[in-house]
Amino acid sequence: MENNSSNFIKNIMIEDLETGKHKEIITRFPPEPNGYLHIGHAKSIIINFGLADDFEGKTNLRFDDTNPLKEDQEYVDSIKEDVKWLGYEWDELRFASDYFEEMYNRAVLLIKKGKAYVDELSQEEIREYRGTLTEPGKDSPYRNRTIEENLDLFERMRNGEFENGSKVLRAKIDMASPNLNMRDPVIYRVAHAIHHNTGDKWCIYPMYAFAHPLEDAIENVTHSICTTEFEDQRPLYNWVVEECEMESKPQQIEFGRLNITNTVMSKRKLKKLVDEGFVDGWDDPRMPTISGLRRKGFTPGAIREFVKATGVSKGYGAVDEAMLEHFVREDLKLEVPRTMGVLNPLKVVITNYPEDKVEMLDAEINPENLEMGSRQIPFSREIYIEQDDFMEDPPKKYFRLFPGNEVRLKHAYFIKCNDVIKDENGKVVEIHCTYDPETKSGSGFTGRKVKGTIHWVDAKNAVPAEFRLYEPLILDAEMNEEIPEEKTFLDYVNANSLEIVQGFVEPNMKDVKPQDKFQFFRHGYFNVDPKHSTSKKTVFNRIVSLKSSFKL
Ligand code: ATP
Ligand code: MG
Ligand code: MG
Repeated sequence: MENNSSNFIKNIMIEDLETGKHKEIITRFPPEPNGYLHIGHAKSIIINFGLADDFEGKTNLRFDDTNPLKEDQEYVDSIKEDVKWLGYEWDELRFASDYFEEMYNRAVLLIKKGKAYVDELSQEEIREYRGTLTEPGKDSPYRNRTIEENLDLFERMRNGEFENGSKVLRAKIDMASPNLNMRDPVIYRVAHAIHHNTGDKWCIYPMYAFAHPLEDAIENVTHSICTTEFEDQRPLYNWVVEECEMESKPQQIEFGRLNITNTVMSKRKLKKLVDEGFVDGWDDPRMPTISGLRRKGFTPGAIREFVKATGVSKGYGAVDEAMLEHFVREDLKLEVPRTMGVLNPLKVVITNYPEDKVEMLDAEINPENLEMGSRQIPFSREIYIEQDDFMEDPPKKYFRLFPGNEVRLKHAYFIKCNDVIKDENGKVVEIHCTYDPETKSGSGFTGRKVKGTIHWVDAKNAVPAEFRLYEPLILDAEMNEEIPEEKTFLDYVNANSLEIVQGFVEPNMKDVKPQDKFQFFRHGYFNVDPKHSTSKKTVFNRIVSLKSSFKL
């Protein structure tokens, strides 16, 4: 993460290289494959890969797959795709489950040193015996088993002789430690389950707090970067590295996790939204997942710039989603074509325009980036404008189309509304206008001015399109902080987070491809949806509107 002198992790690395503590920086990004990555993970990815890159070091992608019950190959595949899409290449691809044998051996070493024991208390009893912050813990009656007995029981745990939950292996540290994590933490449990990588080879699995430091040490990770909720586990992390006699001594460093307003950032909650049908999958454009943001139309560059702007600190605080949107506008502004899309169309007949004539109008593709050239737009007697751009009885200061008023059609002519055609229910179905050939765009006409400019598409040649407009998925911005007891985050899901609107786009857009991006006049930036677009109808996801109240 360049240009960030307040990046305290970078400063630690600089010092470690200067003092010769390390010759090279090695980091890892260690997701558990129990869900799709979200933008919080992007922060971890960018910090880990970015810092290693700064020092020409290495970063492993390591799947922290020590819990067979929640993990799946689908998640492994999606995580790899997302890391690559964000623009990073891992040095080595590792699976924590490949180290199960080694972890087992290190646990045996602990037992031999009298530093671990097999316990038979239930999960609940273990919690009770642990004590509280103000009360010391109590020894388990099994704490003082002999080394031989422990070795025998642990081997039999591995051999599948015991049921789930009947026995655990605990580190023997200090039941009176002021740090609850040090009061004989569980380091192995029995779980008869099929693992996505090791199949049925194992029926005991290491706990995160034991496995993670070993994984880091095995891979010679120098700086093990994680989020601040692991701060209290650091003494245990160091204890495991030390007592397991690992040669390599990684250093755990914590930073504050990224939170964003109006969304949830936890795989467990995101999975609930998917499983309970609030969204159409992990990649629903409303999701804060990397795949959701991609499908909505966000770019890797925008996500990277956003994450860098949030900085690296110990602090906690939710970042305004408007900040993320700011960076995607910045990234797309000069890059994507501008075009016209008509949402909720209303037909306009230009009565003084020749019946069979079609003329091609010239329009720049991006007025802020003229190198993008120009496009041709057909214009003829019948066009579509938006229903919202016409009012029969307009309020004051309405400058768009109404009976007797003249407006400019973007890239075309002035038109004036003369007649309104209604159906039997009084609904306006068509408008009759006349155009003034003198007022052609680009002709230098200065005879008179109009106050409104509206967009349009040629009716005969327009391409049918569907527009999907999004609002925040979660309504209460405070939701990340605290939820009243009788509620869950699902009570805050926005029922109106998706609006689907039909319409048309310019004829030159008939061959757009999934993930192509455009700026539609007045409506903002859109992305061609890769899932729902068909040969008959293109679906455009709105990435972000044009307006922004956000100031950096
Ligand atoms: P979740 O609660 O969403 O499942 P997690 O921390 O359990 O997140 P992991 O798969 O263990 O998910 O995360 C891999 C890495 O990403 C970890 O180092 C973790 O600290 C980091 N990470 C996860 N969420 C965030 C976040 N919101 N901001 C920054 N880093 C994060
Ligand atoms: Mg985790
Ligand atoms: Mg998790």
